Amino acid sequence: RILGVTTTPLPGEPCPGLVIVLFDMTELRRLESLRQEFVANVSHELKTPLSSIKAYTETLIRGAKDDPEISQTFLMRIEEQAERLHELIMDLISLASIESGNQVFDIVDIELRPFVEICLVDQQKVAEAKNIELIVEEKEHGIKVKADEEGLHQILGNLINNAIKYTPDQGRITIRWEWDDPNMVLLEVEDTGIGIEEKHQARLFERFFRVDKARSRELGGTGLGLSIVKHLVQSFNGTIGVTSKVGEGTTFTVRLPRG
Ligand code: ADP
Repeated sequence: RILGVTTTPLPGEPCPGLVIVLFDMTELRRLESLRQEFVANVSHELKTPLSSIKAYTETLIRGAKDDPEISQTFLMRIEEQAERLHELIMDLISLASIESGNQVFDIVDIELRPFVEICLVDQQKVAEAKNIELIVEEKEHGIKVKADEEGLHQILGNLINNAIKYTPDQGRITIRWEWDDPNMVLLEVEDTGIGIEEKHQARLFERFFRVDKARSRELGGTGLGLSIVKHLVQSFNGTIGVTSKVGEGTTFTVRLPRG
């Protein structure tokens, strides 16, 4: 695309030369459209719980507060929606901070076995409630990765939490790791859940992408979890991928530098 044309004389030339400046706007346009889409998504995601909170409070003020049972139900709904807003805002802050490149990570050697066990403590209750079995498989003892502790906790927390969310009752989740090559560790989170159609798999790590919006919302998702996970993994010089079969289950594979 021609952005500017100047007619200054070129050095050593008697008459004015013509300098045409060419820029490829395709990438800029793509980024601008991604930015617009992101702003529209954020606005929509913030508006939905806020509208609910507004509607419940208005109804309470107009008289529903006099009925103790209705007020209790409405107050609980308001709390749920406020919690949703809180999670969304925390995820947005997290994403913005990682994406800006300004977040300082403290990269240290982390031994996976004790670390994964700590992460599982947070998830145990939810898994038990759904009768989901959590299995840890360590191929070799003492395997370490190089990562930031808080970041790795977020990565594992998100992947295991998703595995539990998208696996029906009585399912099984396996967390396993092994040396991949001399420099990397391969870590997998495998579930026996609903699975993801192939056509959706490439978009999973996009901000706000959800296979089933209603289901994700119902389960308390923000649609930002995997995007945060991918950015974190990349910040630690790792990679992430997914394989999945509808109705059989999903495996997220993370490769991180070995510690
Ligand atoms: P959410 O907050 O909606 O869970 P994520 O970014 O964590 O957002 O995940 C994006 C989408 O990927 C989810 O809405 C869901 O459709 C799909 N997904 C993620 N993990 C799994 C999984 N283990 N099994 C099936 N689908 C999954």
